[in-house]
Amino acid sequence: MKLGIVGLPNVGKSTLFNAITNAGAQAANYPFCTIEPNVGVVAVPDYRLDKLAEMYEPDKYTPAMIEFVDIAGLVKGASKGEGLGNKFLSHIREVDAIVHVVRCFEDGEIVHVDGSIGPKRDIETINLELIFSDIDIVDRRIDRASKAAKGDKKFLAEVEMLERLKHHLEEGLSARGFELLSDAEKEIFSDIPLLSAKPIIYAANMSEGDFSGNVEENPFYQEVQEIAATEKSQVLPICAKLEEDIADMSREDKLMFLEELGLEKSGLDRLIQKCYELLGLISYLTAGKQEVRAWTITRGTKAPQAAGKIHSDFEKGFIRAEIVSFDDLMACGSMAAAKEKGLVRLEGKEYVVQDGDIILFRFNV
Ligand code: GDP
Repeated sequence: MKLGIVGLPNVGKSTLFNAITNAGAQAANYPFCTIEPNVGVVAVPDYRLDKLAEMYEPDKYTPAMIEFVDIAGLVKGASKGEGLGNKFLSHIREVDAIVHVVRCFEDGEIVHVDGSIGPKRDIETINLELIFSDIDIVDRRIDRASKAAKGDKKFLAEVEMLERLKHHLEEGLSARGFELLSDAEKEIFSDIPLLSAKPIIYAANMSEGDFSGNVEENPFYQEVQEIAATEKSQVLPICAKLEEDIADMSREDKLMFLEELGLEKSGLDRLIQKCYELLGLISYLTAGKQEVRAWTITRGTKAPQAAGKIHSDFEKGFIRAEIVSFDDLMACGSMAAAKEKGLVRLEGKEYVVQDGDIILFRFNV
């Protein structure tokens, strides 16, 4: 999974990105790769995997990974080629979801590009660039569909829908909120690579003081929430500076530090969790002496396709899945005990994998 961090200059993107890369470098006991300077990889925290590691003492511990791309350089006019312009937009095209850092902290020393703190204005500035770029794409589709409609009337419905979409975008609204009227429309829509249709999380970057106070009462935070509510997006209050401070602490120190602030999880962990929710993702686990590992799938995935995540042979030659839930395994203390109690189920092709299932696939090729 790949997430793109965007935002105007001086809102705290690099600060958050540094926290991410430091946190990734800290968890050094899994294969960690630095790909490019603007890409950071972190492990998806999963307490179940830790418990399995205690039980199996495996040679290898492999959490699910999430990739963050720092997409710097967005300024007003990017869609018309200003700043890094089109390069910026093509980076966004490649991500599964957008993390939009919005400045909600006041600091006279740190210049705001538009002179004052204004979350609503900032969000609109960035969203408009994505929308402008989408209008160009929709225009090209309209041309194509109109030509096709001359030969075949069935394309008229597509032209009508695209015109409606264009109108929606021209109102300054993101494609995310566009109403689709039929399955046919859904299909056409999902085929258009629209930037403003990507799932988005607004990271409201607050000062240390505001963050440790009552977040809900912060007017800047409320502004971000109002916008998110209208487009069914998510908001996460965060303090990028605090994340940066704790990123290179040991796990124990970090937990202690967070506890003192009355927090359960770091902002980064909460961000990852939100992304999973937003994208409808869950994890299943495999466990043995060789390796304990988490695998990310979309909610609703059936057993053979889940097996295909491990290897395509597992999917092709799928016979059955032997499954125990995490809670059952922990209650029994070992796989053998779980089997004895009849808690290891045999499931077939139609089984929908559940979050936290511990699975052994049987296959034959
Ligand atoms: P970018 O241009 O969006 O990448 O912004 P930076 O991450 O470089 O941050 C710009 C400035 O704001 C830096 O001096 C940061 O130290 C500061 N900054 C970032 N996050 C916070 C925060 O949560 N609180 C405060 N007070 N300053 C912050």
